[in-house]
Amino acid sequence: MSIKQRITIWFAALVASLLLLFSLFIYQTYESYRRSLMRNRLQRRALAGQLYFQNRVEFHSSGYLTLPDQHETILGPANNVIYKSSGPDDHKLTKGLLAQARKGEVQFTYDAPPWNKPKEGVALSFIIGGQRYVSVVTAYDLPGRQASNSLLFILFVGNIVLLVIVAFAGFWFARRSMRPFDQLIEQMNPSAANDFSFRLQSTSKADEAAYLAGSFNELLGRLQVLADSQEHFVAYASHEIRTPLTVVKGILETSIAYDKQLTDTRLSMEKALLRLEDAINLANSLLQLAEVEGLQSVKMQQDVNIVDTILDTISYFGEKHPNQKIDFALSDTFTERSQLTHVMGSSILLRTVLINILDNASKYSEKKPISLDVDLTGSQMAITVTDQGIGIPDKQISEIFMPMMRANNVGKIPGFGLGLTIAKKIIDIHQGTLQVVSKTNQTSVSIWLPASTIPT
Ligand code: ADP
Repeated sequence: MSIKQRITIWFAALVASLLLLFSLFIYQTYESYRRSLMRNRLQRRALAGQLYFQNRVEFHSSGYLTLPDQHETILGPANNVIYKSSGPDDHKLTKGLLAQARKGEVQFTYDAPPWNKPKEGVALSFIIGGQRYVSVVTAYDLPGRQASNSLLFILFVGNIVLLVIVAFAGFWFARRSMRPFDQLIEQMNPSAANDFSFRLQSTSKADEAAYLAGSFNELLGRLQVLADSQEHFVAYASHEIRTPLTVVKGILETSIAYDKQLTDTRLSMEKALLRLEDAINLANSLLQLAEVEGLQSVKMQQDVNIVDTILDTISYFGEKHPNQKIDFALSDTFTERSQLTHVMGSSILLRTVLINILDNASKYSEKKPISLDVDLTGSQMAITVTDQGIGIPDKQISEIFMPMMRANNVGKIPGFGLGLTIAKKIIDIHQGTLQVVSKTNQTSVSIWLPASTIPT
């Protein structure tokens, strides 16, 4: 069922219920008014029974409204009938009713064919000459009932007509409101499943459809970048793997053809080995990326000791790069609150992130001193690595997290463009952020991690 149909149905159902409730209210109000009017008339006629004893001429000629099928009975103290008017005597007077009427006024209804609605009656008593008499009047409220039936008919027909109008109006409004969305749907071409270059044009300026089109276009833009990056990734990865293998093949073929001495063969083998190591490193990085892609944050909920993890990483890094100086500093806020601050995650993965960032800081700065600072700001812990290296060109800073993207100022500095991609994925899993700020001769990479603090 389309949204338009759903809106129409809901709208019509809502209006129908409101109309029905309103009609019921009108009908009930009229019915209670009719009942009280009829009761008044019967009451007045029953009280006029007193005239029977005082002025009989006036009693018979009294202009009290005579209702259809009206019948009056006056009974004496011993329930003996004193007076009976003409008209159908279709209500059997019971002792119980008469006894009740002697105590106070009684109103009653009863079925009296051929009328299809009940007849109404009032029984009351009055004292004349020290004796209590009972006067009973019954009648059928024909004009009231007719008015009530007409009202019912008008309400019924009116409701149906209004409901049809409301259904049409609802559908028209729903169609009108959904038109901007219909126009967007028409622009989406399913045959262009792999083409993200099209953009949606919204005819309206500042409504939900324009907002949807804007968000969709933004998404298309990101998908386009992703598709381009994937294309670049495949082309670059296959090139990076094929090149060392082709070189190794060439070295080995040349060695077989020309190397006569064992020392020459050994030299060729060493060259081939170096190239193979490059290919193995790339394969390892790609495997690591694939592994990290499949990780889920729920599986890594350990309380990580950040200082231990950093010290451990620095010592491991120091063994690989003995000439690299690292200035490690903890901020005062962090030192004061470190015992009460907890970071949840995986220390092994955070170590991988730190190694990748330190590796970059070292290789892109020709081993100039690196600073590593830890700070605590609100509920975020920041680990910042700053180097005095070549920096990253402004235009490329947004691309460096994409797989195999390298800035164009790297020259011959080795690398595959995967370190920061892996680091970003790991930090995403930790619900943190990785921030890179760079200017000429200085790059700062900050890891922001959510930290929970136990209140003091
Ligand atoms: P790579 O193996 O190329 O270093 P990364 O994913 O670690 O791959 O980094 C991606 C790119 O970001 C690098 O190629 C480089 O252009 C840039 N980059 C990262 N860190 C630094 C840094 N500290 N100084 C200058 N450029 C950097």
